[in-house]
Amino acid sequence: MTLRATIWIYFAVFTVAMLMFLWVFQVLSLDQYYEFSVKRNVTMASSLITQNFDRSNPGAVASLVEDIAYKNKMTIAITDRNGNIITVSDFMGNFSVITSDQGFRLFEYRNRVLMSSTSSIMETVVNERFKTTEILYGALIPQTTYMIFINATFEPIDSTVDIIKDQFVYISALLLFAALWVSLLMSKNLSKPIVQITNSASKMAKGDYAAGFEGGSYAEINELAQTLNYAAQEISKVDTLRNDLIANVSHDLRTPLTMIKAYAEMIRDLSGDKPEKRNEHLGVIIQETDRLSALVSNMLELSKLQSGTMNVEYSKFRLEGFVESVLSRYQHLSEMDGFEFNYESDGDCICYGDRAKLEQVMYNFVNNAINYSGDSRKIIIRTHLLPYTVRIEVVDFGKGIEKDKLPLIFDRYYRGDRTKRDVVGSGLGLSIVKEILRLHKTKYGVQSEIDKGSIFWFEVERVGENGNER
Ligand code: ADP
Repeated sequence: MTLRATIWIYFAVFTVAMLMFLWVFQVLSLDQYYEFSVKRNVTMASSLITQNFDRSNPGAVASLVEDIAYKNKMTIAITDRNGNIITVSDFMGNFSVITSDQGFRLFEYRNRVLMSSTSSIMETVVNERFKTTEILYGALIPQTTYMIFINATFEPIDSTVDIIKDQFVYISALLLFAALWVSLLMSKNLSKPIVQITNSASKMAKGDYAAGFEGGSYAEINELAQTLNYAAQEISKVDTLRNDLIANVSHDLRTPLTMIKAYAEMIRDLSGDKPEKRNEHLGVIIQETDRLSALVSNMLELSKLQSGTMNVEYSKFRLEGFVESVLSRYQHLSEMDGFEFNYESDGDCICYGDRAKLEQVMYNFVNNAINYSGDSRKIIIRTHLLPYTVRIEVVDFGKGIEKDKLPLIFDRYYRGDRTKRDVVGSGLGLSIVKEILRLHKTKYGVQSEIDKGSIFWFEVERVGENGNER
C-alpha cells in the first residue's frame, strides 16, 4: 500500500471515530443528559430555598421563591404539613400539576412525601392536559413544619436533536473532505522526497554516483538523504578503488607471470643443461612466484579481516620481546643489503592485544619503510610509553609522501607509485594494518615530509603484570 493511501486511511478512520464519538454523546445521550440537568436544577432550587428559609420573614421567602421559579421556569410552592399553601409561584401558566387541579394532586403527593423514608420524592409525571413529561419534586424543609414542592417541565428537545442531526451530516462531510485534503497534502510532502530518493537510488544503481540525494522538510528524511549521500560517496570511492585494483592486480599478476613464462622458456630452450644459468633463471622464477603468492595472500587476509569473521585473540606480551622478534626477521637484510635498524625505547611494558596480528602491522610498516626508503637505508623503531598505551613508531628517511596523498594511503588498493618495478606491493598492506588496528580499537597514523621521510605509528594497550592495573 502506498504512503498516500495509508495516511488517508488513518485520517479517515480517525475522523469517523471522532464523529461516532460525537454522535453518541451529542445525539444519542442528549435526552438523558437533558433530564439529568433538569433534575439537578430542581434539587438545586430546592436546597437554595431550604437553606434560606426564614419563617419569621414571609415576604423574603415569597420573593426568593418567586425569583428562583422565574429563573428556572418552574412552579414552586411552600406548604405546611396539612397542605395549606403558604406561598406559591407559578411560571408554567397555571397549568402546573401543583396549581391546576385545586391542589388535589399536591395533597396526594404530600402524603407520600410524609411517609417516605428520605422525606423527599422526585418523580416524572405526565401532564394530562398537554401530554408532556414533567418533574415533580416534594420534600420536607428540615427543622420546620413546612414542605416544598417543585414542578418543572421537560421542554421537547426533538427539534433540537433534529437540527443537530442535520448539522451532523454536513459536519461529517466537511470533516471527511478536510481529512482527505490534509492527508493528501501531508502525503505529498512526505512522499515527494522519498520518490526523489528512489529515483536517485536507481540512478546510483546504474553507476551514476553523482546523482545526489535531496531531503525535504522533515528531519528524518533529511537525515536519510545525508546518510545516502555519504553511502554514495563511499561506494563511489570503493568503485574507483576497485577499478584501480583491476588495473593494479592485472598489472601485478601479469608482470610476474610474463617473467615466469619467459624464464621457464629460457630454461627449456637455452639453459636447461647449463646448471649455473639454469639456477639463476630458476631463482627468478621462485622470486616471482613469491611475489604472486604474497599478493594473493594479502588479498585473502584483507577480505577475511573485512568480512568480520576474524576475532582478536587477546593476550599479554612484553613490548621488547615483541619488537625484537619482528626485527630478527630482518637480520639478513641488514647483513646482506646494509640496512640499519635502530631500536629506541623509553622502557619495557606489558602489552595487551593480538600479538600475531600486531606483528603483521609492524611487518607491513617496516616493509614499507624498506621499500620506500630509497638510498637511505636507516630505519628506526621507536617506542614511547603513554599512560594507558604504548606508541610504536616506524621511522624512515626515504622519499616521504605528498600531503594530499596522506589521507588515501590507508585505503584499499591505493598505491602511490605503480611504475617502479623494484617496489613489491599490492596496495593492500596499509589497509590490512587499518583493519587490524580498527579491530583493536586503537589509534594509528602517519606523519611524512617529502624527501625527508615518514613516521608510521600505532598504539597498543598496556596492562599491569597481573591484570588491568597499569
Ligand atoms: P604497497 O603494497 O603499495 O606498499 P601499502 O598499502 O602498504 O601498499 O601502501 C600504500 C601506499 O602508501 C604505497 O603505495 C606508497 O605509495 C605509500 N607508502 C606506504 N608506506 C610508505 C613509506 N614508508 N614511505 C613512502 N610512501 C609510503
